[in-house]
Amino acid sequence: MSEGSSMRTRAYALLVTLGCAKNEVDTDRMRALLERAGIVEVDTVEEADVVILNTCSFLASATQEGIEVTLQLAEQAAEGVRSVPIIMCGCIPSRYGAELPSELPEVAAFVPSDEEDGIADVVAEVLSLEPLPEGEPGLTPGGISDDVLPLRTVQGASAFVKVSEGCNRFCTFCAIPYIRGRYHSRPADEIVAEVRALAEGGVREVVLVGQDTGVWGSDLAEGESLAGLLRRVAEAMRPYHGWVRVLYLQPEGMTDELVSVFRDVDEVLPYIDIPIQHCSSEVLRRMGRKGSPAELAALFDRLRAEIPGIVIRTTAMAGFPGETDEEADELVSFLEDQGVDYCSVFSYSPEEGTRAAEMDGQVPDDVKLERTQRLVDLAEQMGFAATASHVGEEADVIIDGVEEGDDGPELVGHTWFQAPDTDGAVHIAEGEAAVGDVVRCRLTDAFCYELEGTIVEDGNDGSDE
Ligand code: SF4
Repeated sequence: MSEGSSMRTRAYALLVTLGCAKNEVDTDRMRALLERAGIVEVDTVEEADVVILNTCSFLASATQEGIEVTLQLAEQAAEGVRSVPIIMCGCIPSRYGAELPSELPEVAAFVPSDEEDGIADVVAEVLSLEPLPEGEPGLTPGGISDDVLPLRTVQGASAFVKVSEGCNRFCTFCAIPYIRGRYHSRPADEIVAEVRALAEGGVREVVLVGQDTGVWGSDLAEGESLAGLLRRVAEAMRPYHGWVRVLYLQPEGMTDELVSVFRDVDEVLPYIDIPIQHCSSEVLRRMGRKGSPAELAALFDRLRAEIPGIVIRTTAMAGFPGETDEEADELVSFLEDQGVDYCSVFSYSPEEGTRAAEMDGQVPDDVKLERTQRLVDLAEQMGFAATASHVGEEADVIIDGVEEGDDGPELVGHTWFQAPDTDGAVHIAEGEAAVGDVVRCRLTDAFCYELEGTIVEDGNDGSDE
């Protein structure tokens, strides 16, 4: 694209993100920094001067995927007429920094998570770029002020907003605290300013994420808490009739004040994501986590009693070291009894550098697979039933885009009980709406995690202001 120019003032970058929503947020931040530096995003390796790959290393399989994608990209890059360097960012460089240059010579530079704010400088160095002329702006999306680093929506009109980084819990199976460091909260003013800017730019739902959102504020001034932050974020979304969703609330984080926010603040969706991982007291103890079946059941009972209509999502892990057949059964029974709406299932994998990887009693792969499959089957049974239970209801749907359906193009969106990109979608065969519109729908049918709907009237499509 820029071949033949002797003076490089602008470069073209392909951004590829692997991993979770938190990584999407990090890529959005890098995207904004790159745009500000005059580096333009493109969609293919062929168009790019540089490829920026944001990696995940939460599990060994994620690391493997990151390496495979790197090699594929390197292959594609080598097929072009000019060399396209790859910059690897995120969790793999954070976790394996020193070993990587010799292991992955295909990569031009490695940028750990905590150095991603310097991404534009790294690109400039790798490409030997000349600085942009003074005053030439980066491309700032959505007219968002320079004081707030603009973030792109990651799905339609929903945006993930990171409230914290790192984790202090050190669950014995998890490498995150070693990769991302100790917990630190983003200041409330910064989060609220970002939410306001996103809403002004057309975002109708903010999804607050962090490794452990429930303890947000614990490292800030006394009195700061997630409950208080949610009230402020809700206030920022109110003029736009926007929604506020929270993910990754550890069970111990559910204070009375927080429960009351989920119950009483209209913008905060009554959708609670509590990753329990297991219910057995003994397995939880070995995981370095707290709780017992009775305590967790009491928590779910309390949430259901105090927040009418609440939707609960959780996470369960199969095959943790030392997990007996009885403990695996206990988890299945617990989930059956609780009948949560959505459940993500992980098969335990030993992560280098974690305490669990060194524990006795590693569960053989075939047993792990069988236990994982039981949990997946149960999760689907619960998830499909939860989805079908909404048939016949009317609900607001945020339009995320248009997809090719069985009978031609259809609108696709999600409603309050579906976290974007996670819990399925609502498909609307007829009607017109733009991305970001909120339309009132009757939910007419369900298939697995998907719903069909028909528009009954226009909802809100913007600000009161
Ligand atoms: S709470 Fe546990 S599983 Fe979650 S990021 Fe922290 S250490 Fe990892």
